[in-house]
Amino acid sequence: MEKNKYVYLFSEGDASMKNLLGGKGANLAEMTSLGIPVPQGFTVTTEACNKYYDDGKVIAQEVIDQIYGKMAELETISGKKFGSTESPLLVSVRSGARASMPGMMDTILNLGLNDETVEAMAKLTGNPRFAYDSYRRFIQMFADVVMDVEKRTFEEIMDKMKEEKGVKLDTDLDADDLKKLVALFKEHYKKEKGEEFPSDPKMQLIESVTAVFRSWDNPRAIVYRRLNDIPSSWGTAVNVQEMVFGNKGETSGTGVAFSRNPSTGEKKIFAEYLMNAQGEDVVAGIRTPEPIEKLEQDMPEIYNQFVNIVNTLENHYRDMQDMEFTIEEGKLYFLQTRNGKRTAQAALKIAVNLVEEEMLSKEEAILKVDPKQLDSLLHPAFDSAKLKSATPIAKGLPASPGAACGKICFTAEEAKERHEKGEKVVLVRLETSPEDIEGMIAAEGILTVRGGMTSHAAVVARGMGTCCVAGCGELKVNEEKKTMEVGGKVYGSEDYISIDGTTGNIYGEAIGTVEPEITGYFGTFMAWADEIRVLKVRTNADTPRDAAQAVKFGAEGIGLCRTEHMFFAEDRIAAVREMILAKNEEQRRKALDKLLPMQREDFAGIYEAMEGRPVTIRFLDPPLHEFLPTEVEDMEALAKEMGLTFEEIKTTVESLHEFNPMMGHRGCRLAVSYPEIAEMQTRAVIEAAIEVKQNKGLDIVPEIMIPLVGEIKELKFVKDVVVKTAKEVMAEKGVELQYQVGTMIEIPRAALTADEIAKEAEFFSFGTNDLTQMTFGFSRDDAAKFLADYYEKKIYEFDPFAKLDQTGVGQLVKMAAEKGKVTRPNIKLGICGEHGGDPSSVEFCHNVGLNYVSCSPFRVPVARLAAAQAQVNNKR
Ligand code: PEP
Ligand code: MG
Repeated sequence: MEKNKYVYLFSEGDASMKNLLGGKGANLAEMTSLGIPVPQGFTVTTEACNKYYDDGKVIAQEVIDQIYGKMAELETISGKKFGSTESPLLVSVRSGARASMPGMMDTILNLGLNDETVEAMAKLTGNPRFAYDSYRRFIQMFADVVMDVEKRTFEEIMDKMKEEKGVKLDTDLDADDLKKLVALFKEHYKKEKGEEFPSDPKMQLIESVTAVFRSWDNPRAIVYRRLNDIPSSWGTAVNVQEMVFGNKGETSGTGVAFSRNPSTGEKKIFAEYLMNAQGEDVVAGIRTPEPIEKLEQDMPEIYNQFVNIVNTLENHYRDMQDMEFTIEEGKLYFLQTRNGKRTAQAALKIAVNLVEEEMLSKEEAILKVDPKQLDSLLHPAFDSAKLKSATPIAKGLPASPGAACGKICFTAEEAKERHEKGEKVVLVRLETSPEDIEGMIAAEGILTVRGGMTSHAAVVARGMGTCCVAGCGELKVNEEKKTMEVGGKVYGSEDYISIDGTTGNIYGEAIGTVEPEITGYFGTFMAWADEIRVLKVRTNADTPRDAAQAVKFGAEGIGLCRTEHMFFAEDRIAAVREMILAKNEEQRRKALDKLLPMQREDFAGIYEAMEGRPVTIRFLDPPLHEFLPTEVEDMEALAKEMGLTFEEIKTTVESLHEFNPMMGHRGCRLAVSYPEIAEMQTRAVIEAAIEVKQNKGLDIVPEIMIPLVGEIKELKFVKDVVVKTAKEVMAEKGVELQYQVGTMIEIPRAALTADEIAKEAEFFSFGTNDLTQMTFGFSRDDAAKFLADYYEKKIYEFDPFAKLDQTGVGQLVKMAAEKGKVTRPNIKLGICGEHGGDPSSVEFCHNVGLNYVSCSPFRVPVARLAAAQAQVNNKR
């Protein structure tokens, strides 16, 4: 065996070698072995790409030698010679990673042409116009793609020539014109690059291969990889394939085909082609392609062969295929095939149909839909035709999917007021805080300048299913003056903006939205996912409305009810503030007494919405100052309302100030200082459960969850309060009720001592938002500001607040789960950080043996599918 084989002929590979040959390369090899007419060639492997980077971005001589070696074999196969002036071999060069990756290098066609070989081509084909047209296209593509000379500058030269000749179409230029154009192009190239256009085909080839490797690391590719969970370590392969020409005259043509309709999923070949054209003409949209049905009339034999191959490929891959084909002088070739990209609706229909057609098992079909794609079925989207003509003015983090359009509002109050008057508004804030909740509910979408994927805006928006773009630092927002400035333009309260929470794009204009359509296939498909998965899916919900929504989406319980969100409602905040401002326990208890009935009502509402499913209620978590006003006028108003002086309020606010509130007086620390808060919450939880048991016959086993525990003694302290109070309530009511007390594992110390903690905790729920923050040591609210630099420098490839860092934070989760089980074999394990709705993190949770994941209502279907896929891929 060769020591390191970096280049494979198509005839040496097969579909199983996707990691090494990339998707395109592996499929070209597979098609070759199936006997499908494929122009032959070879693939430079992903390992060669990785080597290029390992070697400091140089292509090794060893790789170059192997490329030349395979080129010599290709010459034998084709009977042509690379660089020959008699029968020149021309090739295309294309990138091909393991997963298809937009943003990578474009194709280069006609490589191998120079001033001599072009003459040979002209003679061989008897068509100098064709030869020179191919040559000028090659110069243009090579210069653009490999050498960064803008394509547009070549088009300008061509336009000028057409103008001088007084013609409109490219096809109006004859061979002599094109010959002149080639000379002009080369001159332009020399001016731009300070050197001659490379005439040596071997050099053209190596330069092109290197450019593909380089493009693996361009900014567009890096962004795409981050959004699609593709690690940079995969690398890309490069495919070098003999050219066949669709532009050789009226018996030649080229086109693209899908074995089923990619937008609807309909089982019918969907294909378009152009006669006498090269691939880019179809894509460029200069000429309108013909529907494939026309081929049936014009070239029936070719058409039959085409249909046969399409069917063969679909049956072989057992999935909808996306193919490119070329007809060269009456002979049909397939240039590539891959599993076709499709809309979410089409994906569901195709998956269900393939099972009905007995092509796939349910387990296999489950893997055919990307869980993240389900998002688009549940949220409005922009009208695609209108979106096409719009240009983004800025880009932020895609924090909560969907599309929103409305007039800008800079405060939550204004959003609420204008919404009530029937206006559609988008709330634009530097960042949101719990006080903004009503404005957030009223808004079509939420846009923030600061904050990451677990910022308040992101978490709350996802919970409500509202579109949100967060952390868009490019915007200069002045909340006081009510202006938003970006790209030199100032937007005010009467201006429309549109935001896309799926891509993070922001548009400075109104773009219409369309409501999603849920078809019957969704139900069938999700039922299969539920049959297969073992990991349960719960939801994070704080209101009966969100809880009911989540049940509709298939939630099997509540994994996190954040009680503080209820404290901000207009009718409660006064009592909450009274509690905080209390000077002693007695005053505090008085305020808490006012809150008790409201909390009881909240919990009863949630229990009812969950119809007997388990509900985990987390006790008060945020630092208390979050509930107090910060503006002078608001403090004055509060002082008046509470019969205190402005100074008294100001002093309390100042005394509650913390340098690092995320690591301050919050979580169970509040209950340690003020046990009466935990008493009130316990009362509300237990009384509400008794109430719904008696009134509605629902048997609820409430799960009381103590946040931010780092030490068993602090958990025990709070648990004792809970147990004592619960006992009292049950004695008062004369009712026995089951309940559990557990904890969040969200502080590294809790994970490290999980065996201890499990002595008291009946369940663990991993709070991976805080656990990520504290394990990395960076703030969940500020990290977005500098993470961009980390992505660019490839220090981190993913946002650890969106996708669980399995190597670091994940190890704490795994260890704590194991330790917890040692102490308490039946301990219930879940996750309620934002990662609970991220597919790769869900798979991790399945693998480490958690019982459930909990996520925002709109991500419940995503998690259900991801859990089923995890089961198919890693049975447990
Ligand atoms: C967490 O920390 O992961 C969590 C769920 O709690 P919160 O986001 O409310 O801090
Ligand atoms: Mg937390």
